[in-house]
Amino acid sequence: MSIQWFPGHMTRAKRQIQDKLKLIDIAIELLDARVPLSSRNPMVDEILHGKPRLIVLNKSDLADPKTTEKWMTYFAHEGHECVSVDSSTGTKVGEIPIKAREILQDKINRQISKGINPRAVRGLIVGIPNVGKSTLINKLAGRSIAITGDRPGVTKGQQWIKVGTQMELLDTPGILWPKFEDQLVGFRLAMTGAIREQILNIDEIAYFAIKELADRYWPALQERYDLETPPSDIEDNQEIVRIMEDIGRRRGCLIGGGRVDLEKASGIILRDLRAGKLGRITLEAPYDNMPVRKK
Ligand code: GDP
Repeated sequence: MSIQWFPGHMTRAKRQIQDKLKLIDIAIELLDARVPLSSRNPMVDEILHGKPRLIVLNKSDLADPKTTEKWMTYFAHEGHECVSVDSSTGTKVGEIPIKAREILQDKINRQISKGINPRAVRGLIVGIPNVGKSTLINKLAGRSIAITGDRPGVTKGQQWIKVGTQMELLDTPGILWPKFEDQLVGFRLAMTGAIREQILNIDEIAYFAIKELADRYWPALQERYDLETPPSDIEDNQEIVRIMEDIGRRRGCLIGGGRVDLEKASGIILRDLRAGKLGRITLEAPYDNMPVRKK
């Protein structure tokens, strides 16, 4: 999917989600566990408009488990229930319907006390492109479903997908957009593979990746590429390029005269990172000085 959001697209996407919200009991906000902030839509609170919400940190198989724990605590402080899953294997996706029911338990109890037999909880998965919405819907459904993007006429022709007996999901997820104005967000999403390389230059993405990895995960970088000296200063461009060149040399990316083919080296670095070859890596941690919005 190409990602180019213009104000008109954003307004339409927001309206489409808001139409679907009328049909559901709970929104399932899907984030990438490696970049929970960058994969989060900046207007999500406004868009979901107080709808009960479960936050799901997806791709947790690729993320640093300790930092994922910190994020779960962070979101709990924000007043949200949160689970971490791996939708590609289905690990822990079974917690989603259980948590969703827990969140809605008061409402369910009220229905029971009025003598109403509560129906299955109805949910909508929302998230930015490539965060894993289709993969998760398929896992929850237990079968392969052709998931289309938003069709015109939004609420017409949508299907409910059964997740066990207690939950139903809308078959078209809500597509949100990331925060593109922030260059850092763009680079982090590109590093995880959420944004196509045509949009950002591959050398630049790899440069940025090395800078972030040298800062947070130097031992992983050092071990993978058999590197010797860490950068003396990660803000020094030449030092980062030196590391990229070292990696290129180790991987035989040479062009005449002993020079390193940086583009080839960049491709290797990004492929390794995305495939988890550098280990489980999270690019954003909840910092102490981050605002915590209590509900
Ligand atoms: P969508 O655009 O949000 O519907 O995203 P997709 O479901 O198409 O997933 C985008 C890519 O991420 C695909 O290559 C999936 O195989 C991969 N993916 C989705 N969930 C996970 C996960 O939990 N772990 C890993 N490793 N890959 C995942």
